[in-house]
Amino acid sequence: PLKILTGQKAIVTGGSSGIGKAVAIALGEAGADVVVNYHSNEEEANNVAQTITSAGSQALVVGADVSQEDQVQSMFRQAIDKFGTVDILVANAGLQQDAPLDEMTLKQWEKVISVNLTGQFLCAREAVREFKRRGVVEKVSCAAGKIICMSSVHEIIPWAGHVNYAASKGGIMQMMRTIAQEVAPFRIRVNSICPGAIRTPINSQAWNTQEAYNSLMKLVPYNRIGEPEDIGRAAAWLASDQADYITGASLLVDGGMCLYPGFAHGG
Ligand code: NAD
Repeated sequence: PLKILTGQKAIVTGGSSGIGKAVAIALGEAGADVVVNYHSNEEEANNVAQTITSAGSQALVVGADVSQEDQVQSMFRQAIDKFGTVDILVANAGLQQDAPLDEMTLKQWEKVISVNLTGQFLCAREAVREFKRRGVVEKVSCAAGKIICMSSVHEIIPWAGHVNYAASKGGIMQMMRTIAQEVAPFRIRVNSICPGAIRTPINSQAWNTQEAYNSLMKLVPYNRIGEPEDIGRAAAWLASDQADYITGASLLVDGGMCLYPGFAHGG
């Protein structure tokens, strides 16, 4: 991989599995030192850190629940103590708790909103505090800091049975755009990646049998499932100065899922 992030310091939340794991490794392979945040699986976070170290970058494993203000602040303190500063935040941690609307509990609603949306707010706020304190460091990056929010095609596509999740991702879209507008004068770039169907534990029932996979492909014009590495490469590029003039954007990485595949043969 190209060393497009040499010397930069990154935090990836939910970095012990799936997309977060692939993003943490991709940033490390691109030359960034990476804080690998995990919530429950410390062992897998240590494996991710090991892979990053083997690629020649530094890694720090930090446990934190992103929906808890004190834990997010402590995670940023540990990152800054270890690496001196933070240049890149990938706010990736997220979960689903699915139910039809009339069966969804307030607890399920609040859990998904607090991790997926409030968790990204808390992380973005700490990142912006550090970016504003420090400003641009010219040898490191053209920007004073970069934030990537892990959104979803469900910031656009409604999703029956998942109202909490779709609302959290729609919320991320306007949160990201508003923060981007607010901090652009400080040379801080804020963007989202919107993955389509990616092969991770969050949606295994959508791909782990041939029947499920075939049915999923009806929604994917490019006719293959996305791999976590597809998102890892996009994140490394979007965080780099190669993407320096991009802010406030939602980058779809979805094999065409948002192209209304049902209309491909429609008349
Ligand atoms: P995943 O379940 O493998 O990873 C989610 C990670 O978030 C896990 O490591 C989990 O421990 C962590 N997490 C959950 N609650 C947390 C908390 N309170 N604090 C810190 N970490 C917490 O699933 P994934 O597919 O890799 O999902 C990553 C992100 O990508 C999520 O935001 C998800 O909504 C988004 N996404 C995934 C897909 C897909 O198809 N897999 C599509 C669109 C968007």
